[in-house]
Amino acid sequence: MAPTRNDQSKTSSKLSSSPPVEKWDDWVEFDADAWPRRVARHYQLIPTSCFNCESACGLLAYIDKESGQIAKFEGNPRHPGSRGRLCAKGPAVINQIHDPDRVLYPMKRVGPRGSGKWERTSWDEVLETFGGRIRKAIQEGRGEEVMYHVGRPGHDFIMERTLQAWGIDGHNSHTNICSASARLGYVLWHHADRPSPDHANARFILLLSAHLESGHYFNPHAQRIMDGKMAGAKLAVIDPRLSNTASMADYWMPSYPGTEAAVLLAMAKVILDENRFDATFMKNWTNWEQLEIDGFKADGQDFNAVIEALKRHYAQYTPEFAEKESGVPADVIVKVAREIADAGSRFASHLWRGSASGNLGGWQAVRALMLLHVLTGSVGTPGGHNLNAWNKFVPKPFSVPPPQKRWSEMLYPPEWPLCTHEMSFLLPHFLKEGRGRLEAYFTRVFNPVWTYPDGFSWIEVLRDEKLVGLHAALTPTWSETAWYADYVLPMGFSSERHDLMSQETHASKWIGFRQPVLRVFQEKRGRKVDYTYQANPGEVWEEDEFWINLSWAIDPDGAMGIRQWFESPYRPGQKITVGEYYRWIFENSVPGLPEAARKENLTPLEYMRKYAAFEVTTDVYKLNEKPVPAGNLDGSTVAATGLVTKNGKPIGVQLNGTIVTGYNTPSRKLELFSKTLADWKWPEFALPEYYRSHVHRSARELSVGLRPDDLDPQYTPVVDWPKDARGEVYTLLPIFRLPVLIHTRSGNAKYLYEIAHKNPLWLNPVDAKKIGEVSTGDLLKVHTEIGYFVVHAWVTEGLTPGVVACSHHLGRWRMHKEDKIERFTSAWVDLKEVGKGQWKMRQITGVQPYDSSDPDTRRVWWSDAGVHQDITFPVHPDPISGMHCWHQVVRVERAGADDHYGDIFVDTTLSHAVYRKWKALTRPAPGPQNSRRPLWFPRVARPAESSYYFGKP
Ligand code: SF4
Repeated sequence: MAPTRNDQSKTSSKLSSSPPVEKWDDWVEFDADAWPRRVARHYQLIPTSCFNCESACGLLAYIDKESGQIAKFEGNPRHPGSRGRLCAKGPAVINQIHDPDRVLYPMKRVGPRGSGKWERTSWDEVLETFGGRIRKAIQEGRGEEVMYHVGRPGHDFIMERTLQAWGIDGHNSHTNICSASARLGYVLWHHADRPSPDHANARFILLLSAHLESGHYFNPHAQRIMDGKMAGAKLAVIDPRLSNTASMADYWMPSYPGTEAAVLLAMAKVILDENRFDATFMKNWTNWEQLEIDGFKADGQDFNAVIEALKRHYAQYTPEFAEKESGVPADVIVKVAREIADAGSRFASHLWRGSASGNLGGWQAVRALMLLHVLTGSVGTPGGHNLNAWNKFVPKPFSVPPPQKRWSEMLYPPEWPLCTHEMSFLLPHFLKEGRGRLEAYFTRVFNPVWTYPDGFSWIEVLRDEKLVGLHAALTPTWSETAWYADYVLPMGFSSERHDLMSQETHASKWIGFRQPVLRVFQEKRGRKVDYTYQANPGEVWEEDEFWINLSWAIDPDGAMGIRQWFESPYRPGQKITVGEYYRWIFENSVPGLPEAARKENLTPLEYMRKYAAFEVTTDVYKLNEKPVPAGNLDGSTVAATGLVTKNGKPIGVQLNGTIVTGYNTPSRKLELFSKTLADWKWPEFALPEYYRSHVHRSARELSVGLRPDDLDPQYTPVVDWPKDARGEVYTLLPIFRLPVLIHTRSGNAKYLYEIAHKNPLWLNPVDAKKIGEVSTGDLLKVHTEIGYFVVHAWVTEGLTPGVVACSHHLGRWRMHKEDKIERFTSAWVDLKEVGKGQWKMRQITGVQPYDSSDPDTRRVWWSDAGVHQDITFPVHPDPISGMHCWHQVVRVERAGADDHYGDIFVDTTLSHAVYRKWKALTRPAPGPQNSRRPLWFPRVARPAESSYYFGKP
């Protein structure tokens, strides 16, 4: 019998899932390629973190000691979040680093923007060029013309610190096309903008998404959902689509998109009416005393009167009403509500994208879901809902610059004062409107031309040198956006860079250390490596060292006060090294790490180089009940409600005679009643409510000239069709994920695209018949408000009738046949501007085999590159959360004789008109005291408090 990898010594018959740590310095496996000969190969195993999604699972790189090359990646068993397991995208890192088409050297444009002509340049030239331009902009008071725009962050805090050291308000992110809506719902309740469900200990789990197969913390959460199920928990899934997650559920509730809040509020009504709620928890931990609703004021009333007022208010959300809205049967709603009440404090849930990101008002579904947690007292409990802030650990570096005294309205414009993150997807429209320009623009692991809605508007501004002066794409791969940059700067994949990450994967706190494994390997062998690009393939660098060096290039003599933040804490006045940056954090900011290292005779940095992960604490629950340290109470006052304030700011709440921390909200309680929404001109939504999304059936009827009387135009914009849009009207779900793909970065991962390379349009047989006896594989034309795309049909009963669905992740393109751009997945296209703002794309060929140093590129057997749909969507900024509401009202017809698979057409003048229509729904700042935004709301790279006001408060 052939030896397994775990019994190589033939002395042990025990199986284990990973090599033991004591053998990581010399792990021996037999070479599969040499079979049937038994050729032993010796590996150095070095841990790092995956960068293919935000979960930051622990990877273990197998470095062949003879060749010095990475042979494969497996899971790091010492990582507390991922526990040695990975999803398919983890091991596929090996494809990414060995991709023969990858960008290996810094490249500079030599032709007009978008012409695809490049030459190799040096890192020194890049630093000098950008250092000079940024220095001049800051010195001339144009700091806001410097913008850093991030897609996948993959690190904690270092960029906020860098930009604040420069004194600018320049951090932009992708969050408002991702999760801003859900974040608002959570922020309004408890300030923390993400949930940290304790799935493993739950008795009932409710997911409003395909979280088990493709969630935000996919692999770590999936493991724990299954742990919970194995221990007897029941699983319910609300999703119009029969996802792999729904197929594992005890209850699948296929709701009509955008009606989820109606279903959740009907469940809340059942729990309230049946008096199954946790009255003690609600009384202690909600701000019920502030409730004002339907003419009722809680002030001076007792708790029971408030409960009666809530019952009266929520009487409108009957299970029958919810059934009419959503299609979920009333008896199922009642049954699930009772199961949730039975689970009590062991009720866990997750809602992140899906219904929240798809719908206008999607954040209301989170407000409604949290109401179920509050009613059942399942906040902060084992098996319940915890706060991400309790389970995520971000240690402080050796020094922190002061907040910038500036406010960029290109990031946080006055129309969206409650947006949870920067209004990033509107940047092309802001630039076109003349709100500003960019002197130096960094896109970093970010491909808005392809991943954002309305990508042709991005192309229009990116190619205009008056609007975007200098653009660097910091990216591990080529992308449709990098094509329009001035510089393409190669940055490392998972195993080629340093980062520190922590995520709320379970009721614990941990940090994970991403490290460049080839650099660590070489240093272990005594070679001095000054910069990571000296050890990585080609001259692939990492952002940490790039930002340190760029900061020195901006302020070479320290006169601007920038350089000081990038000087070594160990060697005064000298440039800090990346090793010193992390050494200081591990020695000083991570409780328990120095002690754990000492036990192994290691320094804290050596410990993290060895294990790449550390669990700071476990079993983190109910941090709201932590007493406020007595020293912090000097000079504080306690109000009749128990609210404790100091210098006018809430710091805690008195509960049963003890002053405890509470939640980081104005009331220090869970905000059942949002005074913030009332103060900021949305009083009708101060309680969790349901209102109809832009894809509600009534909105669809309106788009074809019918006049339903149940849609309020002050909330819901009307769809105006381009003149040639024809066919049946549907709601399109465009944001479900394929579990094995990422957005842009997986494009060069051959394992992954061999598994998944199609994104047909799902439609129910009922609708296939209605459109015209459509069969799987037939060509359909999908009209949006600004154009169309042509795609194959997939007829399935796994989708609610009236809804069509198409996954993103596919439809990559390249302009020239020979462009070395992710050829496992990109189509060669003909892209033309056929009129002002009118863009037409046609695929010339799909994926084809090609010659390269990797023989597998000749073995590519698939030809489908998928169809890009996002670029045919206009922007839909939610007037409150600022989220791009992804779902679309579309018309679907059979494709005509002139239509080809993959055809795309878009008119960007229509997209700007849609932008203006949605903008008109906003209720702009100022808010109380002439402020731009509620002071208690989180904000990335938070400016000084004085910047929060238009003039004086
Ligand atoms: S879930 Fe998959 S892609 Fe995400 S970090 Fe873990 S292994 Fe990587």
